[in-house]
Amino acid sequence: MSRTPCPYCSGKFRGSLTEEAVQHLDPNLAMNPLSRRDDKIYICRLCGAAEGLADRMDGLLTDEMARIAVQNEMEECRRLPGYPAPLTGIDWAKLYPI
Ligand SMILES: [Zn+2]
Repeated sequence: MSRTPCPYCSGKFRGSLTEEAVQHLDPNLAMNPLSRRDDKIYICRLCGAAEGLADRMDGLLTDEMARIAVQNEMEECRRLPGYPAPLTGIDWAKLYPI
């Protein structure tokens, strides 16, 4: 089964993310978040969390900064599984079991 890359990871954030950081959509589209900015586009969970974080930070973070912060937190949580939700309250260990 071919996996569909996240349209934000592979489009809007192209150049900001490494190729390994590009996420893929869940094959069951309803399991992916809809973009807060355009509710007709399904995006990956990281881009969904990044949009929420950027909105919550009220302009202090650009979308790119929030996306990278969310990615970094996920990577850190994978590296330190005993420390599940340091910044955003997102339980990455639950969303992305190792
Ligand atoms: Zn994405």
